[in-house]
Amino acid sequence: MAKNFLKVTCKDCGSEATIFSRATSVISCGVCGATLSTPSGGKADLVGCTVLETLE
Ligand SMILES: [Zn+2]
Repeated sequence: MAKNFLKVTCKDCGSEATIFSRATSVISCGVCGATLSTPSGGKADLVGCTVLETLE
């Protein structure tokens, strides 16, 4: 299984971030601090960001 990373943009401030698709911790935006992703059943649940691209 490939380790996928997701290129996302924060819904609040629009900054780009790269997050692991199966992140096991909460990921916050480095610019505005909004929650981008929370862990859910072994994968990242994207709550505050929009996926631009999947990186493999
Ligand atoms: Zn942000």
